[in-house]
Amino acid sequence: MRSVTINPPRMCQPIGAMYATLGIHAAVPLVHGSQGCAAYPMRMFNRHFREPVQIAVTSLGESASVFGGRDNLIAAINNVITRRKPELISVITTCLSETIGDDIEGIVRETIYDLEETEGKDVVPIVTIHTPSYVGSHVTGYDNALKAFVMHLSKECDESNEKLNIIPGMINPGDIQEIKKMLDLFNVSYTIISDISDTLDAPLIMPKPPFPNGGSTVTEIEKCTDAYGVISLCEHEGGSAAKFLEGKYGMRSNAVCPIGVSKTDQFVEVITDITEKVAPYEIEKERGKLIDAMVDVHQITYGKKAAIFADPDIALGIAEFASELGMEVVVLASSTSSNAFMNAAKEISDGEILNGKDLYDLHKAVKETDADILFGNTMCKKSIPAGEDDVAFVRCGFPVYDRVGYYRYGIMGYHGGIYLLDLITNTILDRN
Ligand code: SF4
Repeated sequence: MRSVTINPPRMCQPIGAMYATLGIHAAVPLVHGSQGCAAYPMRMFNRHFREPVQIAVTSLGESASVFGGRDNLIAAINNVITRRKPELISVITTCLSETIGDDIEGIVRETIYDLEETEGKDVVPIVTIHTPSYVGSHVTGYDNALKAFVMHLSKECDESNEKLNIIPGMINPGDIQEIKKMLDLFNVSYTIISDISDTLDAPLIMPKPPFPNGGSTVTEIEKCTDAYGVISLCEHEGGSAAKFLEGKYGMRSNAVCPIGVSKTDQFVEVITDITEKVAPYEIEKERGKLIDAMVDVHQITYGKKAAIFADPDIALGIAEFASELGMEVVVLASSTSSNAFMNAAKEISDGEILNGKDLYDLHKAVKETDADILFGNTMCKKSIPAGEDDVAFVRCGFPVYDRVGYYRYGIMGYHGGIYLLDLITNTILDRN
């Protein structure tokens, strides 16, 4: 048994909370920690999305580490309000501020009181999110953030707005576009709670607006309580928020990650079930095209041994799709340890299940199982055994920074499935 991690498979909790905040219109993530806690995630976002993401930080130094970061946090909130004029601020804790034990809620309350009562200003919502990075991962951070947003912002409403709430998880702008397209075909109105489809894939507009257009608005989140129901696309990243909405407002809640045929079928059934709308012919047509594409290339994909690494729900979705393509899933690995992942993974694969293990374990498993194809983010490149250049490497998940444009294309839904299938097939062909 090793007592060190070699090539960690996960990122820290705050990055998940930042990801969630960046999907809210004109929101500023304010990291309560040292400068590095914001600089490293910012770089990760810049490299994956090729967008100039801005993250504020309270810049805790030596004295704040000893005496507490209260003054830094108050100054930072004031600065962000004055300079950026945001519509929401999320205060995201870090290892440092959690270890110091700063009373974040108390400091935020005090700051709001001073601004409102003493200075007579209207203060935008300030949501506190606890993301100590010595537990969990970016997955937990995203989940905590979404729960904090709906707990803080949602308001009781009397009438149904005839909308469906979708909590996407840490997926790409292209995936959200695919989901929106499906819902539009269904003629279903929706609220995407944390919608990065335009904020992290924004057009270049001059002069540059202070915030990108798009994202879920604070008002939409406030009114999300009067929806038909809520679907989390990645249960580990947003499932807690969905459970909160279900528990507090009696909203119907479902979790399904629509990757591949059967999971997208389930997604379509859930939409039909909740909204009582029948799937239109266009949806059926997209499904048929995916099946046709699978038949067209089955001689290439059939029998290939697949090793899959991703965040838990995405890994399970890709594994199901790989099985539908006739592949043998020999390694199924999650970035984040979870019992739900373990149980679901055993249902899909008889191979090796890596539940939150590091990328060195993934490397060993790829080698020992003689895998033909590896799915993973850029960091997984290290898991291809030396000299085994014939292992096809399909880039997916976050971050992908050694190629451009991956964030633009969705792998979810039937149409996204066709893109993923072409990617898989062409990557295998490139090795031949
Ligand atoms: S692991 Fe902790 S100290 Fe390191 S960047 Fe993340 S929050 Fe900051």
